[in-house]
Amino acid sequence: MASIEELSAEQALEWDTPLFRQALTQFEQAIPYADVNESIVARLGSPERAVMVAVPIRRDAGLVDVFPAYRVQHSSVLGPTKGGIRYDPHVTLGECAALAVWMTWKCALLRLPYGGAKGGIRCNPRELSLAELQRLTRRYTSELRGVIGPQEDIPAPDMATNEQTMAWIMDTYSMQVGYAVPEIVTGKPVALGGSLFRSEATGAGVVMVVERACERLGWRLDEQRCVVQGFGNVGGVAAQELVEKGASVLAVSDISGAVYSERGLDLASVREWIADHGTLEGYPEAEHVTNAELLEVPCDILVLAALEGQLTGENAPRISARLIAEGANGPTTIEADAILGERGIPILPDVLTNAGGVTVSYFEWVQDLGRLFWTRNEIRARLADKLNDAFDRVWHLAAKKEISLRQAALIAGINEVAAALKARGIYP
Ligand code: NAD
Repeated sequence: MASIEELSAEQALEWDTPLFRQALTQFEQAIPYADVNESIVARLGSPERAVMVAVPIRRDAGLVDVFPAYRVQHSSVLGPTKGGIRYDPHVTLGECAALAVWMTWKCALLRLPYGGAKGGIRCNPRELSLAELQRLTRRYTSELRGVIGPQEDIPAPDMATNEQTMAWIMDTYSMQVGYAVPEIVTGKPVALGGSLFRSEATGAGVVMVVERACERLGWRLDEQRCVVQGFGNVGGVAAQELVEKGASVLAVSDISGAVYSERGLDLASVREWIADHGTLEGYPEAEHVTNAELLEVPCDILVLAALEGQLTGENAPRISARLIAEGANGPTTIEADAILGERGIPILPDVLTNAGGVTVSYFEWVQDLGRLFWTRNEIRARLADKLNDAFDRVWHLAAKKEISLRQAALIAGINEVAAALKARGIYP
């Protein structure tokens, strides 16, 4: 069996970054419990395909800037690949590769007929105007022609991309093929064939998983004090859902820092402030702390919904939450995972906890292909069924094998992919 060092040396050179090593190490930790042989380990140890492009756009001031961009497809054994597109200054090939690997396990765990992909453009979206973002998105989409497609690879929103971005992708692709292709992206506006409930699905799914975990742990969700890092698409909705279920949210944060109130925040007033001022900076009705301090606020449930690498070997000994929910992808490093495991703090892993987004993306794609429109309640109920089923399989596997919830979630996903690889064999 290949060791992680061998996998890293032989296969990871092109995308060798801390996040890809984290994804590979997690894979290696799951292998002894999974139903895989050496050739399957080798095939799943690196992505099937990666595309690097340089995207030129004319800036509003007239000059031309060129941005590096990527799309990585990890495994197409179960169906088309699926994954978000992010606009962020830290996007690299290795980061996209790691996120694509996690998408494969996530789709397989949820039993969706997809493999994992991820893409992104290395840029600072906050320094680009709306017109520049549109030009960037359209040119990136054109560069990916032949790589993405409704039966090949279906993009979705991720950090700093949204419904509007997906609408531009859909329009660019449709203009190039000559007819409307709503099923090329998910997370698009409802007016274009987007699904009801898609925009809330990831955040709402996080809370569905938290609720199920509380039931299993014998806790009442309405008695829990929660802290949420990140107040964007995922964190903003998760915080709201927690409050609607009776829990209190003591602190939330965004890129400018965090706000904290021991009595619980008034989320409507926080949202109003952000709508008027852009960020949490200067919000008058709560104490201000840093993002690093927010993670250590004493609470019951810590929801991580900003970005990767937040809980580390350095801060894990000081985390005082009783349960951690990973809304973001890869927010807990391998070192932090081990420390929190030893301290007996359960982590609801990203591949399960934030899978609400891709699940409703799948519902959106199915509705588009069948030209169907499901109701909001129907979608919410189907999502709860899917997440509860995956949660129960993960919970039982973890108990049976005496392993962490993360290992159990990864094994459940890996086994689905491995069974398909075994049955299909190697072409030709
Ligand atoms: P978003 O851009 O809507 O929100 C991100 C939030 O994090 C914002 O509040 C932003 O201010 C904050 N943030 C950004 N950089 C930060 C920093 N350096 N320090 C502290 N906070 C910072 O993005 P999102 O869609 O909510 O995604 C958040 C995470 O959830 C990502 O890891 C993403 O991959 C993951 N995720 C998103 C979806 C989805 O459907 N949107 C699905 C699955 C996973």
